[in-house]
Amino acid sequence: MSILVVGSVALDSVRTPFGEVKEALGGSATYFSTAASFFADVRVVAVVGEDFPEEHLAFLRSRSIDLWGLKRVPGRTFRWTGEYGFDLNDARTLETQLNVFAEFHPDIPEAYRESELVFLANIDPDLQREVLAQVRSPKLVAADTMNFWIDRKPESLRETLRSVNMLLINDAEVRQLAKEPNLVRAARTILDWGPTSLVIKRGEYGALMVREGGWFAAPAIPLDSVFDPTGAGDCFAGGFIGYLANTMNFEEANVRKAIVMGSVMASFNVEAFSLDRLRRLTYPEIESRYKAFRKLAHFEDL
Ligand code: AMP
Repeated sequence: MSILVVGSVALDSVRTPFGEVKEALGGSATYFSTAASFFADVRVVAVVGEDFPEEHLAFLRSRSIDLWGLKRVPGRTFRWTGEYGFDLNDARTLETQLNVFAEFHPDIPEAYRESELVFLANIDPDLQREVLAQVRSPKLVAADTMNFWIDRKPESLRETLRSVNMLLINDAEVRQLAKEPNLVRAARTILDWGPTSLVIKRGEYGALMVREGGWFAAPAIPLDSVFDPTGAGDCFAGGFIGYLANTMNFEEANVRKAIVMGSVMASFNVEAFSLDRLRRLTYPEIESRYKAFRKLAHFEDL
């Protein structure tokens, strides 16, 4: 099944204790679609400016990502500048330039409107709703967001959440959004607003899924080479939704396996700057790391 994603396609400048990149390929839709492309067909709706390098589009096409809905318009591409200290779970935004996204309104191509899975990647919640107004009857709508939008557009975000089945955000954002420091109570508050599942991303500590049936915890694999956590959340979402699109099985056991696939894809992404690790990733590597995750979390009663 195909996944429709709307989100940012960006040029990122990132500094971590291990190095830096300037104006590298980034963006929530870019990371998501690259990770998901290992499992399913992906259609991207986004906008870039005239300055966006053609080689980046060629890379996305090389992953068989459908770019029919990616517009190139006069102006500058969205830019994000961020840095991380030794605590790589803590991203500090230094600058966000919306540029062409400031005037953008998604126009979903007719062929995309029947998409059964929709991922609203991190982007203005007003635009997320504009997408939902144009799709017909998706089986699954999942969404991401970040502190930038929780601060600036909390009401709009709440409105978007009414039509979302799954929300994927990090633990600090769960607390911020619900205005509640206790994670369990914060999760309950957010689930009352609409989503039936909440996936809480916890960086190097893994991910938690909360839904009516209870909680599920997936670890993150301890890695000895972590260079840049940018895009880990989007790659997590790409592996997760990509695997669900590939199997179209929404039973609890399969959703749990999909969460682990998300963790697998995020674990590769952090091993290099920008999308560089995913560029050379192979499917056998994904399978072998999936097995390592199973081993890591396995225990039995004696
Ligand atoms: P992640 O590390 O998975 O949370 O996402 C990182 C990506 O989000 C970067 O590649 C940025 O280009 C993109 N990004 C950062 N801020 C925003 C924003 N306010 N709206 C949309 N995308 C953003």
